[in-house]
Amino acid sequence: MKNSTGKNSLPSLATLFAQADGAIDPQTGGIVPPIQPSSTFTRGRDYQPISEGHIYGRDDNDLLRLGEEILTKAEHGEDGLLFPSGMAATAAVMRTVANGGKILLQSGIYWGTTKWVREFCQRRAIELQEIDSSDANLLRQTIEAFVPDLVFVETPSNPWLKIVDIDAASKACNKIDALLIVDSTAATPVLSNPLDHGADIVMHSATKAINGHSDVLAGFLAVKDASLPIWQSIITDRHDAGALLGSFEAWLLIRGMRTLPLRVERMSETSQKIAEYLEAHDKIDSVLYPGLASHPAHDVAKRQMNGGFGSLMSFLVKGDGSTALEVCGRLNLFKRATSLGGVESLVEHRHSIEETISPSLIRLSVGIENASELIADLEQALD
Ligand code: PLP
Repeated sequence: MKNSTGKNSLPSLATLFAQADGAIDPQTGGIVPPIQPSSTFTRGRDYQPISEGHIYGRDDNDLLRLGEEILTKAEHGEDGLLFPSGMAATAAVMRTVANGGKILLQSGIYWGTTKWVREFCQRRAIELQEIDSSDANLLRQTIEAFVPDLVFVETPSNPWLKIVDIDAASKACNKIDALLIVDSTAATPVLSNPLDHGADIVMHSATKAINGHSDVLAGFLAVKDASLPIWQSIITDRHDAGALLGSFEAWLLIRGMRTLPLRVERMSETSQKIAEYLEAHDKIDSVLYPGLASHPAHDVAKRQMNGGFGSLMSFLVKGDGSTALEVCGRLNLFKRATSLGGVESLVEHRHSIEETISPSLIRLSVGIENASELIADLEQALD
């Protein structure tokens, strides 16, 4: 798996993640890093720290730094920060926009982001525009006319699987000095590196595939240029407002990340098989998956994703909301739960959570189970 610059080949990513960037406990030689949960560290009688760089938990957490280093390398960034959730990471970015500023947000993305940004902009008298950023011309024209401080896109988007052309978005942002932030959660650093395509900051809900085992909430940001004023504000905001991930979560996250490239490769392969199976099924209206040639932005996805299209997909069943709910209810292997990117496959009827989503839409998060068994499960549920 290589991107257009030839960087980020799968073997180097596989080694980076598998060996947790070479982390070995320097005291014992332990092959995995130890958990150091201390919130504070003692000083000697001369009042100097006993161990350099260990004063207080909010400033000094070796596991956090290790997780950040691995993910920053994977994203080809200059610096990176972990947060206690994806939303905490997104909020830290948005809070850098001054009162009276302007934000351009992609419409139809993860509902939690839309809801939080709308309320935040209202509170802070920030002008907000929401558009379909998968339309590159509309995005360019809106950026030129609206002149936002910050443009936030999500690609592939959740749950519509829309693809934003990051190169085109970055070109338009550069013309007016707007910052481009990309939520790349559904792509993971294995399948896409938005900073290589001109984004200023890439954001992840590490709760999803990066952790991969549905047992940690975490968020991550990586920046292309660490000297950007926005990055300094984010560092200060995280430190002073205290949005830090705890040691146990950081440890679990690093442990989960060791298999990220393997999991993503397998999940993408299985997703492609499932998408092709569903597309040929006569009880299905349409399948939304960027790996399908029928996806309107398949070529853009191929250009900016490194050889796979991820584990998230949606499809619309023929019939109404009750048909979709019945299909969800008959599934055995796909568990009815929200979230995505875990080793276990999940199904969600988004309309039951988010009224604006079509009642006939079913969203799948494809795990690492046997592909034929997952397809057989869908087959019996659809028939
Ligand atoms: N971005 C996307 C695309 C998501 O799907 C989610 C959660 O579902 C988030 C951000 C928020 O992440 P978290 O739940 O870790 O706060």
